[in-house]
Amino acid sequence: MKLSQRVTNLEPSVTLAATAKAKELKAKGLDVISLTVGEPDFTTPENIEQAAIDGIKSGKVSFYTASGGTPELKSAIVDFTKENYDLTVEPQNIIVTSGAKFALYTLFQTILDAGDEVIIPVPYWVSYGEQVKLAQGNPVFIHGDQANDYKITVEHLEDVRTEKTKAIIISSPSNPTGMIYSEDELRALGEWAIRHELLIVSDDIYDHLVYNGNEAAHLASLSDEIFQHTVIINGVSKTYSMTGWRIGYAIGSAEIISGMTAIASQSTSNPTAVSQIAAVEALTGEQETAEKMRQAFEERLNTIYPKVADLPGFKLTKPQGAFYLFPNIKEAMEMGGYDNVTTWVNDLLEQEQVALVTGEGFGSPDSVRMSYSASMEELEEAVVRIRRFIENSK
Ligand code: PLP
Repeated sequence: MKLSQRVTNLEPSVTLAATAKAKELKAKGLDVISLTVGEPDFTTPENIEQAAIDGIKSGKVSFYTASGGTPELKSAIVDFTKENYDLTVEPQNIIVTSGAKFALYTLFQTILDAGDEVIIPVPYWVSYGEQVKLAQGNPVFIHGDQANDYKITVEHLEDVRTEKTKAIIISSPSNPTGMIYSEDELRALGEWAIRHELLIVSDDIYDHLVYNGNEAAHLASLSDEIFQHTVIINGVSKTYSMTGWRIGYAIGSAEIISGMTAIASQSTSNPTAVSQIAAVEALTGEQETAEKMRQAFEERLNTIYPKVADLPGFKLTKPQGAFYLFPNIKEAMEMGGYDNVTTWVNDLLEQEQVALVTGEGFGSPDSVRMSYSASMEELEEAVVRIRRFIENSK
């Protein structure tokens, strides 16, 4: 059968593909170290699991919930947003979705018409551009300077703004770079969006995973007017190690949220009931376990960053958040006669059984993404193997 153009033009997620390939090789008995994953490697905290078990026993999870999320979870998000963003929002400003990924998907379906443009800074999270395309929009990619941690400025935005520009996406801390925008940098972007009546999609999914005294400022918290021009994307996946539960949410104007809710009502009906109960416990229950996971990531970052930065031909600045390193490996590639990062990544996997994600999926053909969501032993061994690979390929 001839498939739709929409799906034929779609790039499958390179991160999910790399993770699947590593798992397949492991299943064949190979000693693969996979640094591909975009999820914490801890199991969900026990209090959250218990709340879900109790929820199942109560019989409450047998039925559809409201399309935009249960009143209990929306109320938990209202309180969480007050505490973390210092913002007062109403349930009508919130939609709960099947993961933050689906919040983004429904958002683009809600705000874009054919040909509308969304500005996306490079390197970007793999799904942004594809989701914009699925909504018939055009992704417009812009490059920040590597010297400024790839962060974009108003000047970069002005270079590409057209009458078709509808929105820009900012992710801070960033996947894949782990870099954070300062409050002043965010304010400048927010004021630019106000001036041109554009929407900022603020992907805050890594906002709690920040290290070494850094703090991730929230764009939406900077002023009332900036908040009016922002849709916040957040969720429980990363902070509480709940990627499998699929709960994310968006916060924005009642108009946008009601459009998104209409789409949810005709697609997923509602996010899974038991997961919503678990998410209430995540947001309102004890926060110590999440803090311990954050500390573990911080320790891994502090141990592994200097070793990776010291690899021949690797260039990177120390990330402030998320759980990825995104080194520029152009010189390492040149040492081995490589002119393509995906071939380099494939050869590394074949020769040393270390799986990384090619930078090509993030718009950066000179880089690789290494997740440090792995044990310290695996991380240290991976660095030994990568060094051997570079030295053998000279
Ligand atoms: N935004 C970014 C930048 C991400 O890295 C991810 C997950 O990898 C998401 C959104 C989606 O998260 P979720 O698991 O809640 O769908």
